[in-house]
Amino acid sequence: MAQRWQVGDVEITCVTEVAFDVPASVLVRDFDGDALTDELSVLQPDYLTDSMLLRIAIQTFAIRSGEHRLLVDTCFGNDHQLPYFGDLRTDHLTSLADAGFDRSTIDSVVCTHLHMDHVGWNTMLVDGAWVPTFPNAQYLFGSIEYDHWRKREQFDAGLVECIDPILEAGLHRWVETDHVITPEVRLVPTPGHTPGHVSVRIDSGGEAALITGDMIHHPVQIVRHEWASVPDFDPVEAVATRATNYPGLADGRVLVLGTHFNEPTGGHIIRRGDRWTWAAQR
Ligand SMILES: [Zn+2]
Repeated sequence: MAQRWQVGDVEITCVTEVAFDVPASVLVRDFDGDALTDELSVLQPDYLTDSMLLRIAIQTFAIRSGEHRLLVDTCFGNDHQLPYFGDLRTDHLTSLADAGFDRSTIDSVVCTHLHMDHVGWNTMLVDGAWVPTFPNAQYLFGSIEYDHWRKREQFDAGLVECIDPILEAGLHRWVETDHVITPEVRLVPTPGHTPGHVSVRIDSGGEAALITGDMIHHPVQIVRHEWASVPDFDPVEAVATRATNYPGLADGRVLVLGTHFNEPTGGHIIRRGDRWTWAAQR
């Protein structure tokens, strides 16, 4: 079942593509389970297994804001040759449609950054050709993010499949990292994991939420904000971004939605002395 939250007049639905457990060393470079004795009750069993595997989910957030219907991040997608997963086959599009978000009804697609687990369903394979999955959407691509990936010598083949067909169809729009999408939904720059990384902020009716993207990969990086992620482009900046954003998120008002957080995916960051803790919303 999809998880759903109401934030003022905005409705946010989380649809999971795949969920799995990984050794901590794969994702959180500085992970030290022995240092977590006081926090285990916050993390287990929903986010951390008894044997200290990290529980991870790959998810799309679907948003209704006024007349707009947006998707934030499109997961791995089908038929791409992925590291670890091979050519994944899921019924994610059916799950989105069942949640009320048929692909023809989406008007904006936001990618928090250009990694495969966030752009995969931008396109789909039809008769041997990659075509835009959401034909009536404008795809918002960060210009900083795109420039970063494009200038690398090996622009990942999987990424090309997910981006070039959008450009060829003219469905893209280049945006800055503070772009306002609707009066209630805007991008917030959260660099570090990648240079142009953004989170998505929702403000409506005095209520607020933040979809993290990979600013926070796992709740363990709330109780230990200084623990860097293995795939961070600039781990020092990623840690600094968490440190500067957590005070504003810990005012008790902002619902935090962790893009890779296993269910319960939403909750609140709470100040605890000179650290932070997580209160999942159940
Ligand atoms: Zn990710």
